[in-house]
Amino acid sequence: MGLKVNEIFYSIQGESSYAGHPCVFVRLTGCNLRCSYCDTRYAYEEGEEMGIDMILCRIAGYRCPLVEVTGGEPLIQDETPILIHRLLENGYRVLMETNGSRDIRRVDDRCTIILDIKCPSSGEINKNDLNNLKRLKDNDEIKFVIGNVEDYNFAKKILNSMDPNQLRAASVFFSPVYAKMEANTLAKWILEDKLQVRLQLQLHKIIWGTEQRGV
Ligand code: SF4
Repeated sequence: MGLKVNEIFYSIQGESSYAGHPCVFVRLTGCNLRCSYCDTRYAYEEGEEMGIDMILCRIAGYRCPLVEVTGGEPLIQDETPILIHRLLENGYRVLMETNGSRDIRRVDDRCTIILDIKCPSSGEINKNDLNNLKRLKDNDEIKFVIGNVEDYNFAKKILNSMDPNQLRAASVFFSPVYAKMEANTLAKWILEDKLQVRLQLQLHKIIWGTEQRGV
């Protein structure tokens, strides 16, 4: 019983509505996708088996109330929902970032899901389980990683197809592919189209660059 863990580290949350907050990250090993721009390829295989009690113990050492479970893809490991439940029971605020290919209903409702919807330039658009959009709760967030205008138009189309009651503007993030898509171009498109979304820059990369792991 346990999970294969790539790394556990303490850093500044670089994305989502929690950007800027100190946060403990639990990066789980393995991913069922191979996105063209993936910046965590080291998490595909590397990692060590850890029991949930040991993971909780490591997290407790940081004395930080915010924890993000990420990957890789967290939902390919059977015990991820148990880890999240245990974290919540221990009083943590918990975020889980998922690549959107697996059913998010397995996860405790108190957890904030950051649902990545894959755009065409990822090369993994066919893996999106778009039924997840209907499963989102009020405290969840949607992220589109945008690499070009085709991605941007795809993201707009997805948003237009959603029930407006379900689509809360503050919870949708458009993030440019780092070093590939100019943030000012994406900002211009968002302003021109008057989209009620949030432009997201990856704060951790601005602070520490792209080479360092565990930040
Ligand atoms: S889903 Fe995330 S971890 Fe998996 S290949 Fe895509 S970017 Fe990398």
